[in-house]
Amino acid sequence: MVKGTDYSLARRAVLRDLRAGRVSRNDVCDAHPELLRAARNIGERVGKNCPVCRSKDLFYVSYVYGDRLRAANGRALSQPGELDELARKHAEFDCYVVEVCTKCRWNHLGRRELHGTRT
Ligand SMILES: [Zn+2]
Repeated sequence: MVKGTDYSLARRAVLRDLRAGRVSRNDVCDAHPELLRAARNIGERVGKNCPVCRSKDLFYVSYVYGDRLRAANGRALSQPGELDELARKHAEFDCYVVEVCTKCRWNHLGRRELHGTRT
């Protein structure tokens, strides 16, 4: 069981605002080129359609943050098993999982997980 925060409520609220016209598509489909590149190259397919454009090109990209991660701090995970390896070596760090669509550039923070030997 991984400790963390689930942002699905916030995600639903954004999508509701989009449908109601309270926010524009440009406001929510603004993924940074770096994030789009990460999604294409190392993203993990969500296996669901994009909530905005219905494309199947919906990915999860995981970023790890922690003072003690040194070189890995702020990096996107690119290898299978990388998270487990970091979790064995480090006391505590955060993993942010971002959902991103490479078609329409929709992106939203999915969840924040706390990992490491101390958790
Ligand atoms: Zn999309």
